[in-house]
Amino acid sequence: MEDLLSTLKPESWLVSAGRPLDPGAPLNVPPVPASNFIIGAGREYARDDGTPTWEALESIVGGLESGRAVAFASGMAAIAAVFDQLQAGSVVVLPDDCYQGVVGLAAAGAARGRWSVQRLAVDDTAGWVRACAAADLIWLESPSNPLLTVADLGAICEAPRKPGAIVAVDNTFATPLNQRPLDFGATVSLQSATKLIGGHSDLLAGVATTRDDALWRALKKSRELTGAIPGALEAFLAVRGARTLALRLERAQQTAMILAQRLERHPLVTCVRYPGLPSHPTHAIARRMLKGFGTIISFDLLGGAALADVVCRNVRLIRHATSLGGVESTIERRAAIPGQEHLPPSLLRLSVGIEDADDLWADLDAAIRSASAE
Ligand SMILES: *Cc1c(COP(=O)(O)O)cnc(C)c1O
Repeated sequence: MEDLLSTLKPESWLVSAGRPLDPGAPLNVPPVPASNFIIGAGREYARDDGTPTWEALESIVGGLESGRAVAFASGMAAIAAVFDQLQAGSVVVLPDDCYQGVVGLAAAGAARGRWSVQRLAVDDTAGWVRACAAADLIWLESPSNPLLTVADLGAICEAPRKPGAIVAVDNTFATPLNQRPLDFGATVSLQSATKLIGGHSDLLAGVATTRDDALWRALKKSRELTGAIPGALEAFLAVRGARTLALRLERAQQTAMILAQRLERHPLVTCVRYPGLPSHPTHAIARRMLKGFGTIISFDLLGGAALADVVCRNVRLIRHATSLGGVESTIERRAAIPGQEHLPPSLLRLSVGIEDADDLWADLDAAIRSASAE
């Protein structure tokens, strides 16, 4: 069965992986809300040994990148487990455009003297290549949040590294269907399963995937010692969401391309960032790194922050909410968030869901036009 699964396309793997094989077993691994198990079969305590539900999620997501995965309570818990690997005095390099939780985690550790942090522009490939020689943790996020800049993972992962250094890629926006960082040579690939893998905005979970067995064991140990375990229901829902990831992603990124093209021609829109648009600064890199351009668009409005806030209030089909990757489209003005004031003031981040493209466009266009008429 494992051999069969290794020959499948990702679309089939998502549906068939992580299922019991024993006759009479349920076709779907159920949520197993157990703290302890009867001794004798190697599984005694959930926080140490895992549960069948977490393992189903790990098997599905890990297999997508031909690696082994560890599931966590959230994307940030998975990320913190990677930072947990660092020795005191380590050098961490972060992108200039980066998930704010990671920036906060890195800053908190730096303030306590645990490590030092440098920042580099996502598209400064030569800078990243140079940084690899001295850094202990190279942290990449591609496409980045929310400017959607695409890093040249191929070139950066090939660069000579300090022995023992970790190259980590936050692959949440791409998912392993659009980009497999471990194929380029990254040490570990991170997913906030809260986003596209879960896909329904009803759970928090995270997954770290690696092909390095020692790191896999260390990440599991970190989960055991920090207690950053996924919930039984959350892991079950993440598995349930993953079954349809390929369909949802394909549909949503087709729609994102349509909306990005239409936004680019909109008289009240000044800048559209979507890696699939030829006008995107890293479009050429995106074409080499990504199988699909993803489901997130960010764009700026002629009327500035005030107009953008009204657009968020005026949308009806699209919901005014943070986060991303759900079946429902959501929109948010990112510079309104504390700590994000460096972003263009009117920047709206649109997470495209699986609704009809014309319905979404009609809603967005009406919201922009009515806002500018107010
Ligand atoms: C949401 C997100 C995270 C954090 O994930 P949580 O599940 O919210 O902890 C990390 N990186 C990126 C790119 C994200 O979008």
